[in-house]
Amino acid sequence: MKLYNTLTRQTDTLQPINPGTVSVYTCGPTVYDYAHIGHWYTYVRMDTLIRTLRLDGLAPNWVMNITDVGHLVSDGDEGEDKLEKGARREGKTAWEVAEFYTDDFMACMELLTISHPDHITKATDHIAEQIALVQTLESKGYTYTIDDGVYYDTSKFAGYASFARLDLDEQQASGRVQVNTQKRQASDFALWKFSPKNASRDMEWDSPWGKGFPGWHIECSAMSMKYLGETLDIHTGGIDHITVHHTNEIAQSEAATGKRFANYWLHSNHVTVNGEKISKSLGNGIRLQEIIDKGVPVQAVRLHILESHYRSQSRFSWESLEAAHNRLKHWQAVAALYWQSQREEGESLTDTIVDATTNITEQLTNDLSTPQALSLVDDLFSTMETKQLDHGSQSVYKDFLNFLDHALGINLLAQGDLDEEQLTIFQERSIARANKDWEASDLLRDHLLKRGIGVNDTSDGQIWYRI
Ligand SMILES: [Zn+2]
Repeated sequence: MKLYNTLTRQTDTLQPINPGTVSVYTCGPTVYDYAHIGHWYTYVRMDTLIRTLRLDGLAPNWVMNITDVGHLVSDGDEGEDKLEKGARREGKTAWEVAEFYTDDFMACMELLTISHPDHITKATDHIAEQIALVQTLESKGYTYTIDDGVYYDTSKFAGYASFARLDLDEQQASGRVQVNTQKRQASDFALWKFSPKNASRDMEWDSPWGKGFPGWHIECSAMSMKYLGETLDIHTGGIDHITVHHTNEIAQSEAATGKRFANYWLHSNHVTVNGEKISKSLGNGIRLQEIIDKGVPVQAVRLHILESHYRSQSRFSWESLEAAHNRLKHWQAVAALYWQSQREEGESLTDTIVDATTNITEQLTNDLSTPQALSLVDDLFSTMETKQLDHGSQSVYKDFLNFLDHALGINLLAQGDLDEEQLTIFQERSIARANKDWEASDLLRDHLLKRGIGVNDTSDGQIWYRI
């Protein structure tokens, strides 16, 4: 399997540390608000990675964290904790806010048929591990303490700039350092923040340095190493994590262990909505529920996300979502051939279906080339759409539809066969057509339409599909 690795800036062949299994860590949501469509692009793409690893015969061990403390409004460790801000906005405690949005996130993960990670780890459940890691860094001389917290001295970590190809001189000169004049370098970051002197926080803990809470980055290093070891195979996240969050995760972890933190780094690119970056002020952070409320099935959302490659800048719009919905309907219509009577004669489709399975797998294992994989499904389905399935290919076709479900999370078998009433009308129409009773045939077509079933009349006889 090949993946584009941000660490090497090239497409590398995956070589897991322990053959047969692959450890994967994904930076999860900060649960202070609803997730929006941009987030779902990232998580569906990471799920595609997990599904493709399985297709490739590997057993992934997938950890995703939930950031429920310590993620400040600015990546530069300034401003309020997003959770405490959310609590004030909603008149709740930070704990209640975290629980509410975690539950909502997990429910949406399920709706989108995103695989359940093997471990969902909350930052607040791992305070001791984070403190222990800061102590290790302190004992190795990587930290210093100033008025508002314990900081990581990035000048002590050779190669701090290399992962993101940062220009640290430029960063220093740009004035970010001025925000906190006690920081030694602009790039230094908080490992432990002290609680404010005259205000109370909902979330705070005792530590060797005083009461406070962990910085945002330390949780991912601590939890990744706890569940996946000092070096993991694949670390994933959004592309905006590269310059600060992931750079800092590497600095912390590698300074503590002296080993490489992750062998492969996979980053999901940005998504625009109606051509604009998603932002609070534009109010274009569309929620999954808004899409469902418009009557678009979540399967169409998933298919739309897979239509763009994870490394390309993607565009979401209601029009493009509608196009994906139409594509889904076409797929469902062709999948429905599985339940219909099969022809005994003519060309067998078995080889074509088996070849499609092989070619789709090849595209997915080539750096998750989902747009190409989807085109191959289209190609197969357009050769099948106007004729009945041949008898000998029915079980191979079922395997193919199951394969698509495993590979893409698009469950085409879920629609099921006609119910008894629909089937009776469908059969009556067959008889009417055999008797050339076109009036009855048209009437029965209308009856089926009212029950959500369309029909196509082909040289092999009539074929039904769901509307
Ligand atoms: Zn992270």
